[in-house]
Amino acid sequence: MFENNNLIKERVSDIRERMAKAAIRVGRNPSEVSLMLVTKTIEPAVIEQALRGGERLLGENKIQELKSKAPYLTSLKESDGSPLLYQMHFIGHLQTNKIKEAITYATTIQSVDRLSLVQKLQNRLELEDKAIDVYLQVNTSAEESKYGVEPAKALEFALQVREYDRLHIKGLMTIGLFSAEQERVRSCFKKLKELQLKMLDKGVPVEQLSMGMSNDFETAIEEGSTLVRVGTSIFGPRPYPDSYYWPQMGSNK
Ligand SMILES: *Cc1c(COP(=O)(O)O)cnc(C)c1O
Repeated sequence: MFENNNLIKERVSDIRERMAKAAIRVGRNPSEVSLMLVTKTIEPAVIEQALRGGERLLGENKIQELKSKAPYLTSLKESDGSPLLYQMHFIGHLQTNKIKEAITYATTIQSVDRLSLVQKLQNRLELEDKAIDVYLQVNTSAEESKYGVEPAKALEFALQVREYDRLHIKGLMTIGLFSAEQERVRSCFKKLKELQLKMLDKGVPVEQLSMGMSNDFETAIEEGSTLVRVGTSIFGPRPYPDSYYWPQMGSNK
């Protein structure tokens, strides 16, 4: 299926075209929105094809996969022999006993959603004398998911996280409702945008809005997304349902 290097390139360029159209529809500049390739379950050799095609932003959802693919991906070279550089974001639920791996293999953690995690991240980062970029995950679909801070508590949470100097807040992340009704999905994205404006008003630097996946990225861009996370539409269906990655989710996709 992936023998042909062009298949991934073609799918990526199709997605990028749809992204640009969505941005233009609402008067945004397409360059404001980045594309993350979500590579969970995808073999490193296939990910390499996307990197060779010029993609530079990847997302993984499980620490085990993040770690096991790192040796292959970090050893890739450009044609002139220099390292092939890319960004790897962690976008899955982060358990506190996996913090060490997360900060070793990811450049950004998009799923910061509770103070206990923030404190442990800060401690570990201090120990290693490092810092990391983070996004705060907000649960905009209420009943659908157990992860992410509640919208009503998000501003207070952001103000707290700001006190931890090893975590550099870059933005907000959400997983929209898994529903075929785009207007209900849209309200999740609107909610995240509203929270962003409130936080910016208080001086929390949440410039980035990570929202939108294969089924809803155009709606997310219309509502202000600056980073869409796309897996299936580029790499094809995964062998496991989404509930494997986000327990309690995806049952009615
Ligand atoms: C799997 C996943 C995606 C990509 O989902 P697709 O529907 O395959 O595009 C995006 N964000 C998160 C957090 C994910 O776990």
